[in-house]
Amino acid sequence: MEKVIIFSAPSGSGKTTIVHELLKRYPQFEFSISATSRAPRGAEQDGVDYYFLTEEEFLRRIEADAFVEWEAVYAGTHYGTLRSEVDRIWSKGNVIIFDVDVVGGVNLKKIFGNKACSVFIMPPSVEELERRLIGRGTDAPEVIAKRVAKAGQEIERAPEFDHVVVNDDLQRAIADTCAIIDNFIAQ
Ligand code: 5GP
Repeated sequence: MEKVIIFSAPSGSGKTTIVHELLKRYPQFEFSISATSRAPRGAEQDGVDYYFLTEEEFLRRIEADAFVEWEAVYAGTHYGTLRSEVDRIWSKGNVIIFDVDVVGGVNLKKIFGNKACSVFIMPPSVEELERRLIGRGTDAPEVIAKRVAKAGQEIERAPEFDHVVVNDDLQRAIADTCAIIDNFIAQ
C-alpha cells in the first residue's frame, strides 16, 4: 500500500535531525521536498531541502491547483507540498516522509487517512526550544521570537497526532520513533 509518515513539531524541536536519521536507516523512505517562498538558509540547496520559489510563482501554482496542501506558515512566507512530489515518490514504490508544520501535519493526516502515520515531536519545554533556536545561529532574533510565540499554540495540538514523541534525549527519541514506524510499516 502507498504510505506516508508525517512529522510535525514546533521549529527547533529536533524534528529535522530525527527525520534525517530515519532516512539513513530506512532505504525505502523518501523525503517529500516542500516548496517555499522563503530564501535559502545556510547550506540549503534548491531541489534538495526545498523547491525555492518566488512568492509570485508560489501564488501561480496555488491558482493552478498544483498543491496537495499549502499554508502561509509565517506572514508572507508560503510552504506547501506539490502533487508532483507525492507522485514522484510513490511511483518509485517508496514511503513518503513529510516534515511539515503542525497545521500542515493535521491537514495531511486528514487527506491521507489510514495511509498515514502522524508523529508529533515534542520539545522538553518552550524555554529549551528557545535556547536551541538561539544556539542554531541561523535565524534573526525577530524570527526566533515569532517561532517561540507560535510554539505554545502548536503544542496544544499534539493530541491530534497518532503519536507523540518527547525529544529530551535524541537517541531515545529516535528509538521511540523507529518503534512506532516499524509497527506502521508492518501493518
Ligand atoms: P523552516 O523555514 O524552518 O524550514 O520551516 C518552517 C516551518 O514550515 C517548519 O515547521 C516546516 O516543517 C514547515 N513546512 C515545511 N514544508 C511545509 C509544507 O509543505 N507544508 C506545511 N504546511 N508546512 C511546511
